[in-house]
Amino acid sequence: AALLEDVTRSFGATPVLRGLDLRIGAGEIVSLIGRSGSGKSTALRLLAGLDDDAGGRILLSGNPSVVFQSPSLLPWRTVAGNVAHGLNQIDISPAEKAERVAGTLAEVGLGEHSGAYPGELSGGQAQRASLARALVGAPELLLLDEPFSALDAITRHTMHGLLLSLWRHHGFGILLVTHDVDEAVALSDRVDVLVDGRVAHSERIDSPRAEEPDPRHKAHLLEHL
Ligand code: ATP
Ligand code: MG
Repeated sequence: AALLEDVTRSFGATPVLRGLDLRIGAGEIVSLIGRSGSGKSTALRLLAGLDDDAGGRILLSGNPSVVFQSPSLLPWRTVAGNVAHGLNQIDISPAEKAERVAGTLAEVGLGEHSGAYPGELSGGQAQRASLARALVGAPELLLLDEPFSALDAITRHTMHGLLLSLWRHHGFGILLVTHDVDEAVALSDRVDVLVDGRVAHSERIDSPRAEEPDPRHKAHLLEHL
């Protein structure tokens, strides 16, 4: 679904991505981990089309959708109004729009909160709303930049379950940028480690999303971080 090939990106004289190769197949979950400042968000922004000043090749089939760490919901619009923004580019009737928004809010467990304002939501509910806004347009690729790192451990665990159930139901690909090696191993088909602007190690997970992941995966990843 998405491919970065030999991608380079510098800020001023500072190279950040130095020949990055990254592939997310259709319906695949890939995590990108790496130290702070290693260029994870830079790579994600290129895939999202939020930045186009790169060298190399970037190929995308289908439309991507992004969720960031802090939910960027419009405070003066209701939850439903925010989610409807995800349909801005799509030419459908207002009635169908309202139906899709309501359906997506129900899927993320916010059916009762469609009329609430972002300021009235908990952190987890706000991320559910961000996820709904991303998913309402039926993207083929979901780009997640540390979407759960501001949440407490229990809420984070609940959100992992929600993300996987949405993924199983809709089958979009996911690029998950995260600091959390356990999260990456628990959710992904593959975990790539970004070091010095390239993938230094790529770890394929044996039994993806198993109850008890093989501890060797984490050990391999920590060797390269
Ligand atoms: P973190 O884990 O802290 O989120 P990251 O891996 O996502 O880090 P990036 O945000 O991609 O890192 O940044 C990589 C490098 O590029 C950093 O040194 C950062 O300062 C630099 N950088 C990113 N965006 C810009 C920008 N718009 N202008 C200048 N430098 C930038
Ligand atoms: Mg980042």
